[in-house]
Amino acid sequence: MRFVFTLRQAGVTDTRVLKAMEQIDRARFVRGLFAERAYDDTPLPIACGQTISQPAVVGLMTQALEVNPRDKVLEIGTGSGYQAAVLSKLARRVYTLDRHRTLVADARAVFRDLELHNITAMTADGTRGLPEQAPFDRIIVTAAAEDPPARLLAQLRTGGIMVLPVGQSDTVQRLIRVRRLEDGYDYEELRPVRFVPLVEGLAQD
Ligand code: SAH
Repeated sequence: MRFVFTLRQAGVTDTRVLKAMEQIDRARFVRGLFAERAYDDTPLPIACGQTISQPAVVGLMTQALEVNPRDKVLEIGTGSGYQAAVLSKLARRVYTLDRHRTLVADARAVFRDLELHNITAMTADGTRGLPEQAPFDRIIVTAAAEDPPARLLAQLRTGGIMVLPVGQSDTVQRLIRVRRLEDGYDYEELRPVRFVPLVEGLAQD
């Protein structure tokens, strides 16, 4: 795979993660003019004014999530569907939510083409999580909130892990990892990142 060297340099060393990223062709998730840059280690514009994350960041977040083959994972921020596709190679089941129905429809079509049948993509406000499927073993948020959304923390299983960017949208945010313990939550700061903001409510498109 073309960016495996870049991923290793960025600190993605988990062989399961590297293998999963090798199996998913990023070019399938980028349209039009930007498709030729699909293998660059850079975020790229997608529909609805959103972005597909930089591959190194996808790799580091996936690695930090420590996904096991039996896990049920919730992703907030489907975007192009790329992160969900990578997770689908590592987990038993992936639920992914986006507030833009156009993005969800496009991502579903790609999942179908790639025969990734263990992903359920839904148009929904991710700040509410997905109570009907909770608790989750792992939760990943790919849009930045000022603080970890309380409703997502509540939907994490004891022993579960959540990875998310926190901080204001116009400044540098921090990627954090939250572990749910028997008697509370443990927070760990991983690295600076930059994501589009987590916005409450459904979008018009
Ligand atoms: N994981 C994506 C990149 C996500 S970009 C990928 O692999 O391509 C961030 C996404 O979060 C955007 O698509 C945006 O619409 C979505 N988003 C922002 N706020 C949200 C919310 N409250 N609920 C669901 N999705 C949200």
